[in-house]
This record gives sequence, C-alpha cells and structure tokens, in this order.
Amino acid sequence: MDLKLDAISPKEMEELQRNVFMTTLEQIKAWARSSSIYPMTFGLACCAIEMMGVGGANYDLDRFGSFFRTSPRQSDCMIVSGTVTKKMAPILRRLYDQMPEPKWVIAMGSCATAGGPYVKSYAVVKGVDQIVPVDVYIPGCPPNPAALIYGINKLKEKIRYEAKTGKKVI
Ligand code: SF4
Repeated sequence: MDLKLDAISPKEMEELQRNVFMTTLEQIKAWARSSSIYPMTFGLACCAIEMMGVGGANYDLDRFGSFFRTSPRQSDCMIVSGTVTKKMAPILRRLYDQMPEPKWVIAMGSCATAGGPYVKSYAVVKGVDQIVPVDVYIPGCPPNPAALIYGINKLKEKIRYEAKTGKKVI
C-alpha cells in the first residue's frame, strides 16, 4: 500500500512525527550494547585502586548499566588499569581472545597507555596497544574514578557513532 504523505493532515503528520521513529537494527544493537557495558576486571597496579573506586557507593558505576565481571566470557570491555609487564602481556592477550565479539578495550592511566613512569624499564610494555587494539585512552597517573566514567561514556558514544555511520573510529 502506498503511503501518500500529501493526503495526511497536519495533525496526523504531527502524530506520526511524535510516535514513529526510524532506525536500523545495527543502531538498536549498538544502543543496547553501549547501555550495558560489562567490563572485565584487569587491575595490574595502582590504577586498579581507582578503577575499583568506580564500583563503590561514591561513584556507583552500576547506575550507568555497567557491572564488573570476573570472567572474560561474560565481558565485552577490558579495562587495562596498571603497568603491563612483558611477562603479563601474553596472559592479557589470551584473556582478550577469550572475550566474545564485539569487544572493546580501555587503556586506563599512563602506564597502560604508554609505559608511564616505567617507560625506560626493559620489563614493561610501552603501551597495551602493542598487545590488543585500544578504543579509548584515559591519561593520568592515576586517572581518578570520574575520569574512568568519562572514558566509559566516550566508549558508549563511539559504539553508537560507529553503528550510525558504519565508520570505524580509531
Ligand atoms: S599510571 Fe601511575 S598510578 Fe597508574 S599504574 Fe602507572 S604508576 Fe601506577
């Protein structure tokens, strides 16, 4: 049946605009996924203390629909908070590989981003993006819990934007 828009009265058009909205399945999936990000706990050093802070009553990450999981199988976001040593790197990669798709990574703090104060150490990886693809970097030594929440919200924006435009944001 053809829908003739010029046959619709202004009142009916107003009703249509208020009650009907068009979208794509990809955008609905992205909205649902971004509204319930389940991060995997991956605390490696001092930044992890700040990461734990977001789960407490003061910052209360749960109100944004995010709950920490202890299993990679139940997680879609890895928050790497702390110093990544070369010895830990293969374990980090294995856990990342065990997470189901789609999945995202947040590098929290200057150690995870680029090696931090240990950048000259032979034992430290100079940025976790050498091991896994990183979606959001949060600077600071350490970033506070509010900065982590900001980073998680940026990740949500990224997920929705990519679904809307079909473009990968790097
Ligand atoms: S960035 Fe600073 S606070 Fe975070 S793990 Fe490294 S040294 Fe610790």
